Amino acid sequence: NTQHELEVALGDRRYPIRIGRGLLDQPGALAALVTGRHALVLTDVNVAPHYLAPVQAALRGKQVQTCVLPPGEQEKTLARFAEVMAVLAGMGASRDTTVLALGGGVVGDLAGFAAACWMRGVRFVQLPTTLLAMVDSAVGGKTAVDLPQGKNLVGAFHQPSAVLADVATLDTLPDRELRAGLAEVVKYGALGDAGFFAWLEDQAEALLAREPAALAEAIARCCAHKAAIVARDETEQGERMLLNLGHTFGHAIETEQGYGGLLHGEAVAVGMVLAARLSAELGRAPWPDAARLAALLERLGLPVALPPGLAPDALLDRMRLDKKAVSGALRLVLWRGIGQAEVVDGVTDEAILAVLDA
Ligand code: ADP
Ligand code: ZN
Repeated sequence: NTQHELEVALGDRRYPIRIGRGLLDQPGALAALVTGRHALVLTDVNVAPHYLAPVQAALRGKQVQTCVLPPGEQEKTLARFAEVMAVLAGMGASRDTTVLALGGGVVGDLAGFAAACWMRGVRFVQLPTTLLAMVDSAVGGKTAVDLPQGKNLVGAFHQPSAVLADVATLDTLPDRELRAGLAEVVKYGALGDAGFFAWLEDQAEALLAREPAALAEAIARCCAHKAAIVARDETEQGERMLLNLGHTFGHAIETEQGYGGLLHGEAVAVGMVLAARLSAELGRAPWPDAARLAALLERLGLPVALPPGLAPDALLDRMRLDKKAVSGALRLVLWRGIGQAEVVDGVTDEAILAVLDA
């Protein structure tokens, strides 16, 4: 069974997360999500040839504009954002225009930020087509573009009206992208659910083989986790920070490489291993748990060590620009072991440099 239906509840606001094979081929369900007359579909050149047609067909009768972007994190820029604003202006978009994001996290973040800003906020629908977007970025309302200085530095909280994850779209996702998404899947087990972590150890081969039921279950379990955390802490005042396990290290790696090196999920895999090792060094977590985390990531084909050529002090400087930093002081998500992340302040530069140097 690949069908799952969840909900994100934010006080009196709520929106559905639908997971299943073939959701994009149900035109009625898609059309119902666009309430006004105008829609803008944002996608990228890799996704459009596979999945744009059913979305356009579902929206027949509406005034639909399509914006097909070049792919990749390098495109999540203010310049692209300005282009999308110009497209919205050109199509005569109004307050009841719906923006649809058909693609991975890059398309979702950019489309979401555009929806947050156009006329101070319009309806927004997430149609994630990468595993990473389905389990993480499409849920929870974080939208942003990058600056050369750091990832996601310009953005807004803007919740979607619905998330429709058609698991069939993963059939065409390149293997490396699938594995990168699995890093974020492992993150949920590592940060808050030892049972799920053990399930992943059990299902690693099924997930790599893209068994539909295993993939759908993994996605649903991650979305349930994320929905619960976002419901308790929409704007990341506390608990939501735990979802950044591995991300302070990971973002530093990505930024230092100039977004052309490791994929986000790969950088997060390395980041989680570094966070686990740092936690163990500090006596906060058992070494065998750190080893278990690295072993699972490695089985999933993910990198577990820093790529060569990155200077520890440069990485540390990048980490200081992280959004979790408070008045310039680093705040890290560390952990107590499998299933238990924690936010820690005051870790010394020496301790961090030691794991970056190892
Ligand atoms: P992420 O979701 O990991 O943040 P991106 O939005 O950058 O990543 O998408 C990763 C890459 O995969 C991009 O090159 C994108 O064009 C491509 N892509 C996204 N979804 C699919 C899909 N379903 N099939 C094939 N390629 C896809
Ligand atoms: Zn991430």
